[in-house]
Amino acid sequence: MNPDAGEIVQVSVRIELFLGVLLLSFALASAAQGRGRGADGDFEVRTSSHFILHQDVDIDESGGFHGSRRFEQQLLATLERAYESADRLLGLRPERKLHVLVYDPGIFDRTFAGLFRFQAAGFYQGVIRVRGATELSVDLQRVLHHELVHAALDAAAPSLVFPAWLNEGGAEWFEARALGKRGLSGGEWNALSQWARQGALFSLAQLSVPSYAGFGPQAAQIAYLQSYALIDFLARRYTERNLPRFYAELIRSRNLERALDRVFRLDAAELERRFFEQLR
Ligand SMILES: [Zn+2]
Repeated sequence: MNPDAGEIVQVSVRIELFLGVLLLSFALASAAQGRGRGADGDFEVRTSSHFILHQDVDIDESGGFHGSRRFEQQLLATLERAYESADRLLGLRPERKLHVLVYDPGIFDRTFAGLFRFQAAGFYQGVIRVRGATELSVDLQRVLHHELVHAALDAAAPSLVFPAWLNEGGAEWFEARALGKRGLSGGEWNALSQWARQGALFSLAQLSVPSYAGFGPQAAQIAYLQSYALIDFLARRYTERNLPRFYAELIRSRNLERALDRVFRLDAAELERRFFEQLR
């Protein structure tokens, strides 16, 4: 997700994993004891067909139209819709249930602030962790969709390190497309074109690092948008229905050049050339 909206991944894998195990076991223990509700570190746990939701946002009423139970049902409904969209648009369909932790915003910031170079709205590292809100805002829906792509790629190929432009670009493209946005906005095109003129855009090789965690705020903003634009370019120029084929071929062959060639009749250098050409 765009760092403006505030998401980052894999800042510190070792700390992340440690925290993840700690938080998840705490969440499960708390759930088992069935203690109170709301921003106290006691996560309420609910499951659906493909997700195990752990929710700890401070919402006063436990039931009713605005209550936490309603919020949890909305979160799970959104996640299930995202799951179907990921299958349809990217051909990604994780088989095991995915853990999704929705934190109270204050607790999320206090817990994870030190791990990020810019404010985070969610990240994936074995489980999906999201900075919650007291209602299911569009931003929150986007973050849930975005993180699902990371989780689904990890589930499909746990040991495969995807180039960040494919991982983040796929997640950015999916969160926009699944929620009805087709292609880059005028503002996004303008920003890209301006950065292109300034020579600020990255080469495909620079975008092929495992993650953008080490990028500063401005560099990350460019990298995320450029990654989204690359996937959008493939979807527009070579039709959307080739994206599931592309990800499937990449996961099967574990070879980017092979997948690009098989599905788009491109190599990485040609993709880069055509992408930059359209910006001129
Ligand atoms: Zn991401």
